[in-house]
Amino acid sequence: MIRNFLSVYRQKSAHQLAQLYSKLMPTPCLLCGANNPHSCLCNACIQNLATFDHVCPRCASPLNQTALCGQCLHSPPEQDTSFSLFRYQPPVDRLIANMKYHDGLMLIRFFAQQMANRLKDRLLPQLLIPIPLHPHRLRQRGYNQAWELTKDLSSQLNIPARNDILMRIRNTAPQTSLPYSQRKQNIKRAFNVSKITIPQHIALIDDVLTTGHTANVAAKALRQAGAHQIELWTIARTIRHH
Ligand SMILES: [Zn+2]
Ligand SMILES: [Zn+2]
Repeated sequence: MIRNFLSVYRQKSAHQLAQLYSKLMPTPCLLCGANNPHSCLCNACIQNLATFDHVCPRCASPLNQTALCGQCLHSPPEQDTSFSLFRYQPPVDRLIANMKYHDGLMLIRFFAQQMANRLKDRLLPQLLIPIPLHPHRLRQRGYNQAWELTKDLSSQLNIPARNDILMRIRNTAPQTSLPYSQRKQNIKRAFNVSKITIPQHIALIDDVLTTGHTANVAAKALRQAGAHQIELWTIARTIRHH
């Protein structure tokens, strides 16, 4: 118990130190080391990150043209639209993995800025909601990066954010630890929605969109609780595995 507490305490204070450090010290570009006063990546490296030209508006799968994909025509996901900034491939996958460690908050701020730049001219949702972690995993990890990303997006886009509406009630195995075939079953009934009036138009926020099972179950719970238009915003999207 004490050891547990100490490890959480250590993670938290390391997290706060990193936060302070990133405010005080401009760092070189995380990818190429170039001197870089404004962001954690230099402009040249930002330009090289793989984005999407055309995607399915519903699930954000890359396509040759902007149109609903075959999968969404056949069995659409619960969310109405999906936005994903980058392809989940090197070096974005490595940057997202680093969000959990030392460069965390700096990278989260960077990704939130990039997302906000792309999203700011749309009709924006009334509320941002992060995909939650179960309290047990939150204690292990120290913070939920989806919530940190949501808070940054909230301040940059001037949209309220709440992390007390969608709750994880089952401590499911991490989706990434399971084969694709088991992920759908694993995440069933994992969420609960608090009895608060939910605005009609909301966005769910997560770091990576993979199979979409987690977001689908979360969006379903929020729709049952009264949301009408549900967007899903993620930093990166994997390319679909068939
Ligand atoms: Zn660079
Ligand atoms: Zn689609």
